[in-house]
Amino acid sequence: MADQTYQLHAFFFPFMAQGHMMPMIGMAKLFASRGIRSTIINTPSNASLCEKSIRKSKNIELLLIKFPAVEVGLPPGCENLNQAPTLEMQGKIFKATTLLEQQFDELVSEHRPDFLVADMFFPWASDVAAKYGIPRFVFHGSGFFPLCASLCLLRHQPHKQVSSDSEPFALPDFPDEIKFTRNQIPSFIKQEVETEFIKLYRAAKESERRSYGTLVNSFYELEPNYADHYRNVFGMRTWHIGPISLVSRDDEETYVDEHGVLNWLNSQRPNSVIYICFGSVANFDDAQLKEIAMGLEFSRQKFIWVVKREKDVEGKENWLPEGFEKRIEGKGVIVRGWAPQLVILNHEAVGGFVTHCGWNSILEAVGAGVSMVTWPISADQFYNEKLVIRVLKVGVPVGVQRYVQLVGDSIKKEAIGKAVKQIMNGEEAEEMRERAREFAQKARIAVELGGSSHNDLTSLIQELKSHTCRS
Ligand code: UDP
Repeated sequence: MADQTYQLHAFFFPFMAQGHMMPMIGMAKLFASRGIRSTIINTPSNASLCEKSIRKSKNIELLLIKFPAVEVGLPPGCENLNQAPTLEMQGKIFKATTLLEQQFDELVSEHRPDFLVADMFFPWASDVAAKYGIPRFVFHGSGFFPLCASLCLLRHQPHKQVSSDSEPFALPDFPDEIKFTRNQIPSFIKQEVETEFIKLYRAAKESERRSYGTLVNSFYELEPNYADHYRNVFGMRTWHIGPISLVSRDDEETYVDEHGVLNWLNSQRPNSVIYICFGSVANFDDAQLKEIAMGLEFSRQKFIWVVKREKDVEGKENWLPEGFEKRIEGKGVIVRGWAPQLVILNHEAVGGFVTHCGWNSILEAVGAGVSMVTWPISADQFYNEKLVIRVLKVGVPVGVQRYVQLVGDSIKKEAIGKAVKQIMNGEEAEEMRERAREFAQKARIAVELGGSSHNDLTSLIQELKSHTCRS
């Protein structure tokens, strides 16, 4: 029997990118709410986001390590992928994280946690855990479907059976018929040239095999066949404990509506506004931003559009068509920088979401019952698009053909306008929204007492208590 009074202590070590860090902080809060003493490891520039998020939680603390930005040629303080607008800078962020092992080891040695949850991009965390004889869990920031799709590609290499980059192939031995082209899959999967990233990816996969298991920010009812497939066919030990945003994010309480976005939304009819946001990393060029602006005008829908650009020193914005802001007055809002995505998605006026298909965005849309226009750019986003369109059937694709890091494939205004109209008012719009609302309901049940995610976390905590008390 596990000692029920023993308080477990966990380290949570997120990768320095919003899409990995926010759910891992949420996970630390979730464990803390279940009585685990949780310590988040982070770096000075990322500390304020952490502090803000955990300030009301008990059982939780933050420990800082130095991020070797300057050592790898980054400006001082550049410690997050969203501060790195070029691929070269992003490569340096990854490089800097490979230098963190020693500091991390020292913290583990000093604080002696009972287990570690470390991002997939820190494969050496499994070595540190082994050195101190404690379990290490992997966190990918991704769901079961994308995890299965990437392992399937690596195992069966179906992309090698087609004669051109645009010829579709199906994923073999997969629960649903899912097709891709070579153009749509990451180069680190194709492994055509050996790069630092490919080496890291391989080490990550290998270290997952050596870890105690994997924590997945998903819920069983969203992708049951893929949760089973990852466990049974690929033999991975996993626990699904999400959607974490439903249990741990408090954006609604903390957001200050300085740009009047929520005020504006409050004056709009239910399901009348489309929300457009491409996550924290993607960085479109001026020409693509202009196409989006024209596509939105063409769709004649009300919108909130998040653009990661500021006005230049003269207050000009070359990425907007002439007179655009004047014409959209009252019809649309441009948010420059960071938007309160969870709050917006959960507002009843929002009836659709144009998304780059980052896993967090997909899960947040599903959790809010919002259907999507899918516009994948890179990473696991093409897999996630297939989940939304082919499996969940809660979206329409904008028609992206190519995986292009950071800037994405080029998409024309006509395609944007058409997909937006379809998701807001097309023949199947209400049906898709209804399906999304059903998933939202299932997501809420999953994280409540007795729900699948709540239960999986309970059994993990029980297992860890017996493991710790035995050793
Ligand atoms: N996000 C946000 N406001 C923004 C942009 C992003 O709150 O203006 C949040 C979004 O809610 C999500 C995360 O940042 O939780 C982005 O993660 P995702 O996996 O969707 O994409 P990534 O940024 O990793 O590409």
